[in-house]
Amino acid sequence: MRPGRPCRHCTKQGCAIYENRPEDPCVRFKCAWLEDEGQYPDEMRPDRSGVIAIPGRKWRNWKVILAIPAGQSVPQESLEWLRKHAQKSGLPLVFHERLVTDGEFTGAKARAYGSPVFANAVKYSLGPEDVIKM
Ligand code: SF4
Repeated sequence: MRPGRPCRHCTKQGCAIYENRPEDPCVRFKCAWLEDEGQYPDEMRPDRSGVIAIPGRKWRNWKVILAIPAGQSVPQESLEWLRKHAQKSGLPLVFHERLVTDGEFTGAKARAYGSPVFANAVKYSLGPEDVIKM
């Protein structure tokens, strides 16, 4: 439920209270793999890809694909798949990299892939080196 800390109901077999899980966020939340059925292959399922992708998320007035890593960062292969998918979809991809202090996740830094127009618009809020044009 918090970065680096799984929900206490999470077991190796899945959710221990699945039938009675809370409406918000458990029932309502749908990651891209569930939401955009057919567009995201099985290897992009969050437990296989190491990333939770959220499609069509509003970010700084832009509609983006948001990518939240399951661990410290989005695995390179998954990031590359998301980058190509975002490019095909015509959306920027915003992905997080977690900051670690003493083995604990203590924050996150956003980075992005996007069009030159997007990169110019957000370069001051993200830092020019954190926006990669695609
Ligand atoms: S579905 Fe909800 S209650 Fe169940 S493991 Fe996931 S976060 Fe926890």
